[in-house]
Amino acid sequence: MPELPEVETTLKGIEKIILNKKIHSFVSREKKLRWLIPANINKLVKGNKINNAFRRGKYIIFQLDKCALIIHLGMSGKLRVFNKKVSPKKHEHWDLNFSDNWTLRYTDIRKFGVLDLTTKNPLKHRLLKDLGPEPLGNNFNGLYLFKKSRKKTVAVKQFIMNAKIVVGVGNIYANEALFKAGIRPTKQAGKVSKNQFEVLALKIVDVLNEAIAEGGTTLKDYSNAEEAPGYFKKKLEVYGRGKLECFTCKKKLKEIRLGNRSTIYCANCQS
Ligand code: ZN
Repeated sequence: MPELPEVETTLKGIEKIILNKKIHSFVSREKKLRWLIPANINKLVKGNKINNAFRRGKYIIFQLDKCALIIHLGMSGKLRVFNKKVSPKKHEHWDLNFSDNWTLRYTDIRKFGVLDLTTKNPLKHRLLKDLGPEPLGNNFNGLYLFKKSRKKTVAVKQFIMNAKIVVGVGNIYANEALFKAGIRPTKQAGKVSKNQFEVLALKIVDVLNEAIAEGGTTLKDYSNAEEAPGYFKKKLEVYGRGKLECFTCKKKLKEIRLGNRSTIYCANCQS
């Protein structure tokens, strides 16, 4: 599943090609992804320029002259730029055609992605308005997590994966950051100390930044939806390593389900 680093990498990859380009047309070969694709997109975007492209959580937003497009890659979505002459293949559901030779094409095998349009401030859109701060932004730190978590009995792992608390901390990153911070995933969020949250916030930032840095070189791998980015294979300390030895203490890692997500930790190193 595309997580924040893959979305960031996707955005960085396409923005240099699409920014300030004039849109010739929008063509959809599918009525519905996760939700219906608005039928009036072509009418509204035609002739507009893409003035800005940015990420909020795992959403990509294109600010055009008169409206904004809101895109989410869902479980298996990919956004890539093609020469217009390349005909669409199976699972390639929509194209944003520019007035030159290029088209931005959306592929999604599982069709769980989102494409919506708004003529208002996209950050006030129903999908974006309740999102918590960006983990790589200025409003995210240990003190913020500490304050938000007081009296919360939810497990700290589920707490940091809640997009209303902080966006973009997917399952893999939550597992890894908690291991690096020495905090057990099942610990009640309200019982995590300020110092522990300070370490955890730094580790969350670290794992995301590392993945983004790797992302630049693994975008090719990522274009194969079945394959995890190279980052995952190389650097994971706990995720996908249930019952294997902890790299730090050599004891066996535990694997449990928490909120129905695979959760791996070292009972010796994390408390
Ligand atoms: Zn250990």
